[in-house]
Amino acid sequence: MAELVNRFSYSLSQGSQFRTCERQYWFSRYGSWGGWEKNASMLAREAYRLKKLTNRYLWTGNRVHETIRQTLSSLRSGDKPEPAAVRERLLEQLRQDFRGSRDHPRRTPGPKNKVLLLEHEDPESAVSDTQWKNVVERALSAIDGFFRSEALRLIQKFGYASLLRNDDVLESMDSEAADFVFPVYVTIDVALETPEGILILDWKTGKPDVSGNHEEQLGIYALFSKSKWAIEPERIRFAPVYLSYTPERLDLSPVTEEMLDLATKNIQSNAATILAKIDDPERGVARMENFRTTDDPVECRRCVYRSLCPDGPLGPPTHQS
Ligand code: SF4
Repeated sequence: MAELVNRFSYSLSQGSQFRTCERQYWFSRYGSWGGWEKNASMLAREAYRLKKLTNRYLWTGNRVHETIRQTLSSLRSGDKPEPAAVRERLLEQLRQDFRGSRDHPRRTPGPKNKVLLLEHEDPESAVSDTQWKNVVERALSAIDGFFRSEALRLIQKFGYASLLRNDDVLESMDSEAADFVFPVYVTIDVALETPEGILILDWKTGKPDVSGNHEEQLGIYALFSKSKWAIEPERIRFAPVYLSYTPERLDLSPVTEEMLDLATKNIQSNAATILAKIDDPERGVARMENFRTTDDPVECRRCVYRSLCPDGPLGPPTHQS
């Protein structure tokens, strides 16, 4: 089998993780690399295990995305899933995941696709029953919101055959920074073909972003849409859908040529900042000490690599056994 190479790539989530904490990015992209191999170092093996942990927000968000994807696929194939049944299925899935994670032996790798939660793994990240209940209720309210959303109304208006993407494809486009060509990975929740062009919908389970600042996300989606579907920028529009809060609203952001230029520059500049820290982006060589730890203890409290990271603002974890 050909050797797997950890060649540099970029995505919205990688850029955001790097900005949150460079060291966390290093664990995720470099420290954990090869941790699945028999002769992996202890650090790589443990970082790889920790990388697979999730937290209550990501877990419920992923399950909501998955539920919507399946519901849209069913609707597209002519079925009429009942909102109450969809809600019940999600609740049952969340219960199963929760029990599986709670009962899993701590500090032990789980089978592929098993949900293991940081809140169960690390006593310092444990949360109250009320906090678990709140996050599950928000996930269920997101599904209720989906069924009454303006976004679903629009999808139905243009027909399910207009769905170009339904949250199921990881695609990429090329970019270049510091004389290095790399793929930029993109996953679009929903792309809908309408008479006015392409409408990109992004399902959000969190609170509305009051700053309305989606420029980086919009820019990457727009660049990708332009190259994938050969469409002029003014025919691309983007709308975040806040499923648990304001699903009836659809605030459309139009795309302009200037935004595309800015998006290209942003990707190049963000990637160049990361590339400057990497010794060999072609072969995936990067030293931990080149990646700074965050100063923000809040980030450390929800970081899956905390047990491997004595250098952060919280110091070494107190519960290691
Ligand atoms: S524990 Fe804190 S400093 Fe260490 S990787 Fe995580 S977020 Fe960064």
